[in-house]
Amino acid sequence: MAAVQHEPLNTNRAGKNHRQKNDPGTIFHFWLQRDSQRTKLYYAEHDMHYTGESARDLPSDLQLAADIVFTQLEDRLPEYLMVNYFRPDIIREPRLSRGAADYHPRAGIRLGAEAKLWAMVHEFAHHVTECAVQGKHACHGVEFRRTLLLCAEALWGSGYETDQLRSGYRKYNLKY
Ligand SMILES: [Zn+2]
Repeated sequence: MAAVQHEPLNTNRAGKNHRQKNDPGTIFHFWLQRDSQRTKLYYAEHDMHYTGESARDLPSDLQLAADIVFTQLEDRLPEYLMVNYFRPDIIREPRLSRGAADYHPRAGIRLGAEAKLWAMVHEFAHHVTECAVQGKHACHGVEFRRTLLLCAEALWGSGYETDQLRSGYRKYNLKY
């Protein structure tokens, strides 16, 4: 996440089909703090990239797959459908290493050629966090970790992924 905007978020768009990349008026209200717990977070969620439902490959029709997952998350997390929320853009980015993914407030979610379902959920949690949090926070800080856990619960209930993520947080002493 490279860009830091200092103007308040002011989209006033409740519609889900807002196009992130094509809109120069999408402005996020956040100040990034040092992302000191990123490595620990990556350790905590390591298994989800390799085991269970979350390690599933994404189909070639990425947009369709994303729409299904995002709808499921939006339906189960109604508190996220606040005024600032809109559905993020998502693209395949061949320049990323294959399993990698990232999120940028203007570009949306970008996935490498072989990014798994978990990578998409992780980046979606970044989008929701950036929409929701007003004020100083770290990219992988407590707000993000809480959101990611809620996303896991929304998709997999109290199953493997949720359980593993929560124990990963505890193991690496990450508040959520
Ligand atoms: Zn991240």
